[in-house]
Amino acid sequence: MGYLYETHMHTCLASACGVSTGKDHVRFYKDRGYTGIIMTDHFFRGNCAIPRDLPWEERVDLFWRGYEDALEEGLKVGLDVFFAYEENYGFDEYLIYGLTKEYMKAHPEMGRWNRRQQLEEVHRAGGAVIQAHPFRVRGYIDFIRIGTQFADGIEAANAGNTQLDDARAYAMGKREGLLMTAGSDNHHSPIPEPFGVELEQKLTCVLDYARILRKREPVRMHVPEGRFTMPEWELTARYRAFRLNDAEETYPMEDGPWDP
Ligand SMILES: [Zn+2]
Ligand SMILES: [Zn+2]
Repeated sequence: MGYLYETHMHTCLASACGVSTGKDHVRFYKDRGYTGIIMTDHFFRGNCAIPRDLPWEERVDLFWRGYEDALEEGLKVGLDVFFAYEENYGFDEYLIYGLTKEYMKAHPEMGRWNRRQQLEEVHRAGGAVIQAHPFRVRGYIDFIRIGTQFADGIEAANAGNTQLDDARAYAMGKREGLLMTAGSDNHHSPIPEPFGVELEQKLTCVLDYARILRKREPVRMHVPEGRFTMPEWELTARYRAFRLNDAEETYPMEDGPWDP
């Protein structure tokens, strides 16, 4: 086994739906033998806990507190902690790895990036973009939107998803040769079976992870046995998947086992 990392998680300091502090999370992952965690709180267009009416730089400072709270404990107990975030485009969401606090403070326009700009600018800064839980079916999502051309890969396994959602993502990833990652989307440690990725090299910073993703170096998904086995399920209209075109408009995917 290589080095094990959590790639998707939230704190109550920066995510409105977060329950654990950064410190709570760190103690849990340390116990479970992880090498490190990457904090991905919901950014300003998502379910963020940071007030909207403050100056941009102050909002960025507050947003980073979830990560910083975890980092403090990580330094004490010996768990690596890295910063990232999750951006929301209404219903499809993206994990952004590789931007610094200084970068974010200097670029308030990032709050208005469309998906294309997000990918280009994050790349320019050396980072990487992963579409989070692409096939998730949940009350807060009107329908499935696949935006793989705006990402370096997909989060095929998400512990907050159903097995069906993940099996469908994995099927698409295999079929289209996409890079695939796994994460827990952990809002509340402890959880019974955290997901993550196993890497052959130890990360020194989050840019190392972004580089691995963009160069498509080996990323082994750490998920329970059988996670990608397609369960028996009736794919009603609710499960219909849509793709985004280059103008970021949706159209139905007609060419897969996911079309009811
Ligand atoms: Zn959340
Ligand atoms: Zn999340």
